[in-house]
Amino acid sequence: MTGNETRILIVEDEPTIARAVADRLVAEGFGVDVAADGPTAVERARAYEPHLIVLDVMLPGFDGLEVCRRVQSERPVPVLMLTARDDETDLIVGLGVGADDYVTKPFSMRELVARIRAVLRRVERPGGAVAEEAASAVCIGALEVDQRARRVRLDGREVHLTPTEFDLLACLLRNRGAVLTRAVLLEQVWNWADASGTRVVDSHVKALRRKLGQGLIRTVHGVGYSLDTAS
Ligand code: CA
Repeated sequence: MTGNETRILIVEDEPTIARAVADRLVAEGFGVDVAADGPTAVERARAYEPHLIVLDVMLPGFDGLEVCRRVQSERPVPVLMLTARDDETDLIVGLGVGADDYVTKPFSMRELVARIRAVLRRVERPGGAVAEEAASAVCIGALEVDQRARRVRLDGREVHLTPTEFDLLACLLRNRGAVLTRAVLLEQVWNWADASGTRVVDSHVKALRRKLGQGLIRTVHGVGYSLDTAS
């Protein structure tokens, strides 16, 4: 482990994919460690203290979902999940596992690196803009959002959101009453200028609804999403 290097743990049981991802990330200047099964992944996450985990879903030992749960229960760390198919992504997002982004196989290394950098930017971004405007907790019905502490309570009970889910909620909250298109949400929350990944918005809305109730975020058909201030 060296000083300022950004460390990434790759969890993938297919050696060719693991090696290709590792080689590319090293070439991009990241520090890299690799695990090929669930238990080793949890152990390496503890010892290597990665800044981000690239996590395959289907793994020997126990699967990526269980790895995500175990790792997150010890220390919050951004997770980019590798899924086999789009419907598997929907399924996993529906479970609210706590990944920050999803990349469906097969993916290009260029796309993977871009998504990794986007997640890292988001997580490392100092609370600056948010902290300035967020005087204290904002309450909408039973929902309480503390933007400074990045904590959310529902009916007084703390709800764990991933950094991305929190950013999405905060963005909807800042613009409450307005309808935000998927492209605008992608740009503001994910820092993506192109709208090619609008499904990722839908997936995270689904996760937020699952955790915070179905009534909070309104779908404006054909347009986008809006925070329902009446709820
Ligand atoms: Ca696998």
